[in-house]
Amino acid sequence: MINHRGGEFKELFKGLTSDLRRIFQTESDVLVVTASGTGGLEAAVVNTMGPGDKVLAVSTGYFGDRFATIAETSGADVSRFNVPWGQAADPAAVLDQLAARPGTRAVLVTHNETSTGVTNDLQGIAVAVRSLGDDAPLLLVDAVSSLAAIELATDAWGCDVVVTCSQKALMAPPGLSLLCASPRAWAAIDARRCPSYYFDLKQYRKGAAVGETPATPAVAELMGLRAGVDLILAEGLSRVFERHHRLAERLQRGAQDLGLPLFPDPQAASDTVTALRPRSDADGLRARLRERGVIVAGGQGQLKGQIIRIGHMGCVSDEDIDAVLAALGQSL
Ligand SMILES: *Cc1c(COP(=O)(O)O)cnc(C)c1O
Repeated sequence: MINHRGGEFKELFKGLTSDLRRIFQTESDVLVVTASGTGGLEAAVVNTMGPGDKVLAVSTGYFGDRFATIAETSGADVSRFNVPWGQAADPAAVLDQLAARPGTRAVLVTHNETSTGVTNDLQGIAVAVRSLGDDAPLLLVDAVSSLAAIELATDAWGCDVVVTCSQKALMAPPGLSLLCASPRAWAAIDARRCPSYYFDLKQYRKGAAVGETPATPAVAELMGLRAGVDLILAEGLSRVFERHHRLAERLQRGAQDLGLPLFPDPQAASDTVTALRPRSDADGLRARLRERGVIVAGGQGQLKGQIIRIGHMGCVSDEDIDAVLAALGQSL
């Protein structure tokens, strides 16, 4: 490994975080925490809210539930707005929830719910939250399975904290969380003492200014991430979004043609993960796909054994989609 306090590292780190700002579509610092995505979500929570703070957790599935549980674990007073699995959260309904709970300090939302294959209307939700003006709660976004694959204009939409991690659309190995915070979020972060030493974002901001992280970073992971970011910037962010949309449509149409129904509301179907509900034996179908060299995920939580989930985020081509459809046809 190279010295993580040396010049070579600083060059890698500064170049990477500056390029990540383009992918996050933000002017704020992008901070890098050595942790899986869940660690980044916990960092977002423990830095911005404390025991007793009122929080609205919009949950559209397994990961929305996890974000709510993280906030509960930190002692926040969490109200869960549970949307039926397979549907997206309606921005107007989020606003109604906020109206019913004055004094809410933060709204938690999952941009793309990986467990159900649903993309929420994050822009609509952000507009709804922002319509509350100066008293608006902070909007904390789990963008783990959307960022760098589905449009997410962090600053333009007014998202306050956006969290992703290395192993989804950024195409790097697992192990890094990446997040940014708006000026409003930093004001909240600066106004309180973070109860976590390792996740104290103030320390990460201080380090970022000089091209370092507070503790030893996962240096090799950063080199992997550099490669993923290079691929994205070479293709161009808007082209990356278009490709994901085109491939999702190709897969979803092909699956319908095979008689495999989409699990989510088609209006809300994700461009990064497709959930299909076979008429029977989803896990048997997965096993037959695996024999053909195609590995797909099953259901999580209440959807265990009910659906199959096909990931198509990051380095995916038309040929990959066609190969999956061929294997699906044979397996059925
Ligand atoms: C994968 C994922 C996570 C969790 O990430 P880990 O790296 O497993 O901690 C959180 N939220 C969403 C939406 C995800 O897809």
